[in-house]
Amino acid sequence: MRSDPRDYQLAMPGTLEAAISLLASEPQAWTPLAGGTDLMVLYAAGKLSARKLVSIWNLPELRGIDVRPDEIRIGAGCTYSELRRHETVAREFPLLAGAAAWTGAIANQNRGTLGGNIVNASPAADSLPALLVYDAKLVLVSVRGERELPYAQFHLDYKLHALAPDELIRAIRLPRKYAGYFSFARKVGAWQAQAISKVSIAAVAKLDGDVIADVSIALGSVAPVPLRLGETEELLVGKKAEPALAGLARRTVARQIRPIDDIRSTAQYRAAVAGNLVAGFVDSLCAGAGSR
Ligand SMILES: Cc1cc2nc3c(=O)[nH]c(=O)nc-3n(C[C@H](O)[C@H](O)[C@H](O)COP(=O)(O)OP(=O)(O)OC[C@H]3O[C@@H](n4cnc5c(N)ncnc54)[C@H](O)[C@@H]3O)c2cc1C
Repeated sequence: MRSDPRDYQLAMPGTLEAAISLLASEPQAWTPLAGGTDLMVLYAAGKLSARKLVSIWNLPELRGIDVRPDEIRIGAGCTYSELRRHETVAREFPLLAGAAAWTGAIANQNRGTLGGNIVNASPAADSLPALLVYDAKLVLVSVRGERELPYAQFHLDYKLHALAPDELIRAIRLPRKYAGYFSFARKVGAWQAQAISKVSIAAVAKLDGDVIADVSIALGSVAPVPLRLGETEELLVGKKAEPALAGLARRTVARQIRPIDDIRSTAQYRAAVAGNLVAGFVDSLCAGAGSR
């Protein structure tokens, strides 16, 4: 059943200060609306329980990508189109630019925001493994001021997160230390475009000669939250990049993930594919090391 617009209230405050004041004025009553690509799907299906929406779309304080000497600071209201077209993001954070390019289709990329993807908190969301791998920090804002939270601490459980009801994500900070890293990303879905992932991987590694000096690996859709593979990273770091490592890395994966059966896939398939993706990353890394 479709929703009736008369049941909803939409405020468009126009400034960040007015938006956070409204959120604080009636705790839990107002829900931020950014690009609307998640919320409007619920609305169209008659399932949007939030009746008071405060638009944060186009708030200048949430827009833009600020390139600083040691980090980039991405406004939470940046769209996928802005991310994928940004020169520094594309060059230094290819996992994020790549995820932006395979999220939905063009209309969705022009409207959907990085902040919305984080707060919607789907374990299948495409940009989230990249944020884990890049050690993102979130800048959260409310009438009490700003606070910072490592992105790795944001998701508490399935669709549960650490944001207070009157807080917004203002920006996402990424350290500029990944130049020269090897990057690897795959999204496994039912078809090429417009698919929600069955399993996804984002990973980076840095080689010192043929030794793995640094490595970060994250998977999507294999647990209630996007997951960093700490045990696999520990196994790999300090080791010579050679093909035998791929099999060893694959064997660590099953112990760290908690895949489920759902309409898109089975737990058994997800576990097998997750192992293959991690082995594929290590194989590609070793092939690169061998060809230098
Ligand atoms: C056709 C279609 C295809 C899609 N394909 C993909 C896909 O391939 N991969 C993928 O990952 N997702 C996909 N999505 C989901 C969606 O586009 C993304 O999750 C998007 O990033 C949501 O951003 P938004 O700005 O539209 O969020 P909204 O719908 O506006 O909001 C989503 C949630 O985030 C909250 N929120 C938004 N911004 C903030 C903020 N700054 N601070 C605090 N709370 C905030 C809102 O209150 C709401 O709870 C698809 C959606 C559609 C409709």
